[in-house]
Amino acid sequence: MGQTQNEEFQNKVCIITGGAGSIGMESAKLMYEAGARVMLVDQDRDSLEIAKTNFKDDGRIMVCEADVSDSAQTKDYITKTITKWDKIDILFANAGFSGTSAPITNYPDDIFDKVMAVNVRGSFLACKYALPEMNNKGSIIITSSIMGVTARPGSIAYITSKHAVIGLMRGVAKEAAPRNIRVNVLAPGPVDNAFQLEIEERASKASGTNVTEMLNNWISLGRHASPQEIANTAYFLASNKSSFSTGSVFMADGGMHI
Ligand code: NAD
Repeated sequence: MGQTQNEEFQNKVCIITGGAGSIGMESAKLMYEAGARVMLVDQDRDSLEIAKTNFKDDGRIMVCEADVSDSAQTKDYITKTITKWDKIDILFANAGFSGTSAPITNYPDDIFDKVMAVNVRGSFLACKYALPEMNNKGSIIITSSIMGVTARPGSIAYITSKHAVIGLMRGVAKEAAPRNIRVNVLAPGPVDNAFQLEIEERASKASGTNVTEMLNNWISLGRHASPQEIANTAYFLASNKSSFSTGSVFMADGGMHI
């Protein structure tokens, strides 16, 4: 963990969904190290148990197993957070599901629905139920993707969902602005982690090309991001360093969109 204590994060309460995953965990480490209390939410119980081992047993980490697309389970992770820590300062709606690789004409209806449920409904529910419990001057970050501002063949559900959360973010940003709660989207490019590797292996098989190589040629900086690089952007958006930014899409994509 490279981050140092930061006065503004002392006792701040953060909820991170997809908190047992790669980007969520790296972001949690930064916020925890800076002094925050962090609730990790994930559907994967085993990963949550492993995640806990990254932190000291000092009462500043909680985990909650929940499916973010479910209203009752969303209320449950919010309730558990405020029961222990009273309020919420930072919401990082980051859980995501990539779906499958297929052209739209073959894309399975049920997988489309699941991608939308996790990525869009999950972010909607997180904002809906967290906002009333948030301190004024809080920060909401929603994870989109390079696929939220561009497209390529074969990922129609993921592309649709990651565009949709930008609309969600803009609507919530307008509604939350009177309370000085900022709402932004973090849009990573391809990350060197298991989530992305699985997509690339699937897409390489479907297209008969080396998609990892193709992406590295497409990304202006010529490489994938590390999860820590994406977490640094989440940390910036959670912090007062981004105090005049709301309603914005922050690309962390190595210049892939230009
Ligand atoms: P990851 O697989 O390591 O983490 C995602 C986490 O979300 C997992 O721990 C998973 O269990 C959890 N999750 C999935 N569905 C859930 C549900 N219904 N309820 C609760 N938890 C659920 O992948 P990551 O790379 O850390 O992805 C984090 C976010 O970043 C996702 O929204 C993803 O779409 C986005 N993203 C990733 C990349 C990349 O290259 N990895 C690029 C752009 C955007």
